[in-house]
Amino acid sequence: MPSFMEPFRIKAVEPIPFPSGEERRAALVSAGYNLFRVPAKAITIDLLTDSGTAAMSAAQWSALLSGDESYAGARSFERFESVVRELTGFTEVLPVHQGRAAERIVLHRLLGHGDLSVANTHFDSTRASVLAAGAEAVDLPVSHTDGAANPFGGNIDVPALKTLLSGPAGDAVRCVVLTITNNANGGQPVSLTNVRETKVLCDRYGIPLLLDASRFAENAYLVATRSADLAGLEPRAVARAIFDLADGCWASLKKDGVANIGGLIAVRDSGLADRCRDQLIETEGFPTYGGLAGRDLDALAQGLVEVTEPRYLRYRAESARWFAELLEQAGLPVLRPTGCHAVYVDAGRLLRHVPPALLPATALANELYLAGAVRVSELGTLVFGRPDPEGGPDLPAPRELVRFALPRRVYTANHLEYVAEVAGEVAAKAGSLRGYRVVRQVGRMRQFTAVLEPVA
Ligand SMILES: *Cc1c(COP(=O)(O)O)cnc(C)c1O
Repeated sequence: MPSFMEPFRIKAVEPIPFPSGEERRAALVSAGYNLFRVPAKAITIDLLTDSGTAAMSAAQWSALLSGDESYAGARSFERFESVVRELTGFTEVLPVHQGRAAERIVLHRLLGHGDLSVANTHFDSTRASVLAAGAEAVDLPVSHTDGAANPFGGNIDVPALKTLLSGPAGDAVRCVVLTITNNANGGQPVSLTNVRETKVLCDRYGIPLLLDASRFAENAYLVATRSADLAGLEPRAVARAIFDLADGCWASLKKDGVANIGGLIAVRDSGLADRCRDQLIETEGFPTYGGLAGRDLDALAQGLVEVTEPRYLRYRAESARWFAELLEQAGLPVLRPTGCHAVYVDAGRLLRHVPPALLPATALANELYLAGAVRVSELGTLVFGRPDPEGGPDLPAPRELVRFALPRRVYTANHLEYVAEVAGEVAAKAGSLRGYRVVRQVGRMRQFTAVLEPVA
């Protein structure tokens, strides 16, 4: 029995599809063996992402109706702004339609050709923005080997940061970014101490410290529960202590905004805010709505309050931990410790007979779909593989992971038990799974559109 319980009851329900085995096979074939291309109507349990997939609360649905759709200066913006200011302490608040708009607007103000952005790990859309600005993205995560035992596996490597900043490349660094939690590194938290040490270095070299705060509440909860000296502090207070150390943040509010769309920029520097606003008007809309409807801002304001509730966050962390145990019992190698937003499985270890070039993580993800219409995402060589500069086969990703993302407040323990059953069926025949090869791909984010085929 789970040691937690969903801290809500269900007021509105949505039926889920149950495609037959034949329908699943047909859907996967016509999707070019790429789960991003499978229509949602052919999915039973969708753990592709925790982004924009949350169930809103009754209070959020009712907040929608008080949305003020005035073009300029809407009440909805005032509510949103005051919630964000109270939460973060940042005075300048700009709404945007989603996280990557915020990243593009902020990073293009700070970066130019030849500049560097340094991070614990740039999320893929963050990296794309850095590159589009003509700059380079340097990731300095704490190493994966100590990541296994490290309660703060999302941290930036502070000694490595110090070496970089004091070395010849230091002059080119225009910002340091901490992604909290570190999505690309297993959804692991960044400790308060790590943020503090990073800030000391940033101050020494006069470089702004920015947070990618998309999962700020989950980070705060994990930090509070894993730091002896913070025991008893509310997640909201921990989040605030972290915001207090930074010069600003951006966030995709499709995560810890517990809503289906939205993002924000929040900074202290009014000069930077003005420059961002100027760009925002050009590409997003007037600065008091930033590409969102007024009602979205009301739902987000409410979501940003609900997301820091300790009972909700405990449920979130404990259900992830419980689900990881189920998957492990089902025979899948699970990454520990678990975070909040997803459980990661090491497909490379499960499918040792499939080399990275034949996309073992894709093979596992596709088999989970075929076995039970469960959709997860591949975070292996399809996503992180890099073309070989010498023109040979793609260089493999460091790890072949499959991510079971957990949409907020959407699936119950029963749904996750079903997923574990399906996983057990797949694990039992792991030795017979075959790899895939890419037959068509475009651009830097090939995983979204690539067409694949199974290898014979
Ligand atoms: C989702 C995400 C983004 C991008 O946000 P979108 O709303 O998808 O544009 C940026 N950083 C992190 C850490 C994210 O998880």
